Order: sequence, then structure tokens, then C-alpha cells
Amino acid sequence: MPSDTPGKTVEFRVGVRETLSGDGTVHRHLTVQCELRKATVDVAECTGCERHVETIPREDGHAGVVRCRLPDAVAAPEAAPALRTLVGEVMERDVVCVTADVRVEVIATMLREWSATGVPVVDAAGRPIGTISGANLTGGRLVGDVMTPLAFSIVEDIELVRAAAVMSGEGFHQLPVLLGDGSLAGLLSTCEVARRVELLE
Ligand code: SF4
Repeated sequence: MPSDTPGKTVEFRVGVRETLSGDGTVHRHLTVQCELRKATVDVAECTGCERHVETIPREDGHAGVVRCRLPDAVAAPEAAPALRTLVGEVMERDVVCVTADVRVEVIATMLREWSATGVPVVDAAGRPIGTISGANLTGGRLVGDVMTPLAFSIVEDIELVRAAAVMSGEGFHQLPVLLGDGSLAGLLSTCEVARRVELLE
């Protein structure tokens, strides 16, 4: 990026979608919420962006922060009312998933070690296809045999108020959030929605 590019330097935190496959390999997909594009961007794309300043890795070797120089109006936007913010701006981007060929006993260990209730299941392209939880751990050998198939998902560019209505109306405590290619961008939980609503009060 040219050093005289006008604007303000800002940082975007990198989210990591980690996917464990049945052969034991872990694939990491790194993304940021880009204020310029108002969308999730693959961190690999940032290095080719004219606004990119640097990517600062985390200590564990994953990318941790993308720094870029943005026009002033984009770098310091007017705050939107809490429920008018987009799902992509508030969802949890650090997500651990598994593929359908992971053995069920591996999931039992994962849930125990993390004190988690469930894990998203994705296909080879990172598209969510279901959920595996503690209640699904019998009756089959692989995750794909026993998972609960995906019932509902949302996209990142809808307003939180619409997502909240879906979650409330359909009784979902958590929903997968999809990118344009159908892959998993993050998770939106009722806890996060409730936290935003509290900000309004
Ligand atoms: S480097 Fe470019 S694409 Fe990446 S977050 Fe910054 S403005 Fe967006």
C-alpha cells in the first residue's frame, strides 16, 4: 500500500474456523469483518488489497490482526442502533467444527474437555450440514450417523433484529451464519443477541 494513502489505520481481529476431519487433520480458515466491504473477507485476500498495511500473527502462529488504512468515514462510522447492526458484526468468529467422518468417541472427549454442549458439523467445503451434541452420542460410530441435520441458518448481512425474531420464533439458541458461498462464517447465539438488547436498555 502506498505510504501516502489517505485515511486512518485500523485493526480488525482475525477469526478462526477450525475443522477437525476424521483422519485427524485440522484445517484453519481465517477471516476478518471488513468495514470497507461490510462483509467477511478471507485473510488471504487482504494481502492483495490496496488498503492492507500488515497482518500481525498471533503467538501460536495463526493470523491475529489485520491492519489497514481506511477512509476516515469508514474507519470511524456512526454507531448503528444495537439491533440494526448486522449479524456479521457481532457473531462469534472463532468456531471449532468437525466433519461427518469423525468418530463419535472423539466428540465425547471434545465436549467433556471444553464443557461444550455441541459442535457444528460441516462438509469438505466448510458448509454446515448439522450439529453433534452430547445427546447424539449413541447409536452410531461416526458423527454423520448420529448428528442432528441442519434445520436453519442465516446470512451475515441481515440485521440482528431479524435474526432475533427468527431465533425467538423458532426456538433456536444458536444459529450458524453463512458466507455467500454457503460456508460457515460464525455462530450467533441468543446470549449475544441478549447482550445487545441489554445495551439498548
Ligand atoms: S485489507 Fe482490505 S479487504 Fe482486508 S480488511 Fe482491510 S480493507 Fe478489508
